[in-house]
Amino acid sequence: MTNRAVGESPGGIVRVNDREYRWPRRPLVVVCLDGSSSDYLAEAFAAGVAPYLRSLATRGFSLTVDAAMPTFTNPNNVSIVTGVPPARHGITGNFFLDPRTGRAVMMNDASFLRADTILAAFSQSGANVVAITAKDKLRLLLAAGLTGVCVSAENEGQPVYSARLSEHVLERGVELMRSSRPDLTYLSTSDYVQHTYPPGSPEANRFYGVVDGHLAELDRLGATLVVTADHGMRAKADEDGRARIVFLQTVLDEWFGAGTTTVILPITDPYVAHHGSLGSFGTIHVRSTHITSSLIERVSEVPGIDVVLEREAACARFDLPADRIGDVVVCADARTVIGTRPSEHDLSALRAPLRSHGGLAEREVPMLFNAPIGGTGTERRFRNYDAFWIGLNALG
Ligand SMILES: [Zn+2]
Repeated sequence: MTNRAVGESPGGIVRVNDREYRWPRRPLVVVCLDGSSSDYLAEAFAAGVAPYLRSLATRGFSLTVDAAMPTFTNPNNVSIVTGVPPARHGITGNFFLDPRTGRAVMMNDASFLRADTILAAFSQSGANVVAITAKDKLRLLLAAGLTGVCVSAENEGQPVYSARLSEHVLERGVELMRSSRPDLTYLSTSDYVQHTYPPGSPEANRFYGVVDGHLAELDRLGATLVVTADHGMRAKADEDGRARIVFLQTVLDEWFGAGTTTVILPITDPYVAHHGSLGSFGTIHVRSTHITSSLIERVSEVPGIDVVLEREAACARFDLPADRIGDVVVCADARTVIGTRPSEHDLSALRAPLRSHGGLAEREVPMLFNAPIGGTGTERRFRNYDAFWIGLNALG
């Protein structure tokens, strides 16, 4: 890694990936509520089940911020803990096609990470740092260089397809705040509830009620809180519940012949029952670049496709690393997901009409905090990966 953090003694400034962070005056807890589009919060507020979070919003302690692209879990969690976009840290999803080997490989461990984490930098400077994640797939990335506690609820025996997984993350955060009062805590939940239940449903409201109680407790214990999301979540199905899917590999094989293109879906992971490996973002590798411009033109016209960009344009617009996104980047629209071929997606594993994310429609997410925001630079549009910067530098 090149951008080594330059830590100072407690009370000083910690520099990470060319951004400066002040030493926390009170414990800071950054919470990533996976898949929490603002409609989940709005419904929970309206139902009266999340009085604490609602009180923050009522006091104006909230912002609308943008997630990093693609709007997937790992790229955004890593963006939040590094304070920089995927162009800088290198994590664009769960999978990418390695141009050196031509193979699709998982990028769920720290060897793919190109930036330091804020957590690691503070821990190396002597801070007591805690990171708790829901799924184990994120733990290895969050643990990079971290000398504090880093555990996953999955590893601690919680069922993956459950609200419990996320509730456990918050419970542990509260427990550790009581017992060891960490300087910095990062809590990251799973989006099982949001993939499975729409905003305002009894299950979603119950979940946000539990979350609200734990966050209120962290506040009572004296923590500064910044609560945001890695991405939003939308129904990707017709009114009759049928998933709206563009099978991109099938389409490209018909147009250009089998073997001329490879579609990679970076959402693909071992936890397919959430989403059947269907998200609103995909990348295309072309064997021969002479077809690229006609491919872009034709894919752009497919119903359900939102944006199609050649590599350089995608890097410029979405802050992506050129060597991990293929030749063409494709986003589906708010109601559509991208698949490869029907045979590669087991929709029978889905427990409810498909809800997913990955595109621009899931980019806008809420951010709430428990103190007024002030200082310089607060007039610009923030990103979810400004969470630590806001928590350490901007909250009064
Ligand atoms: Zn997520």
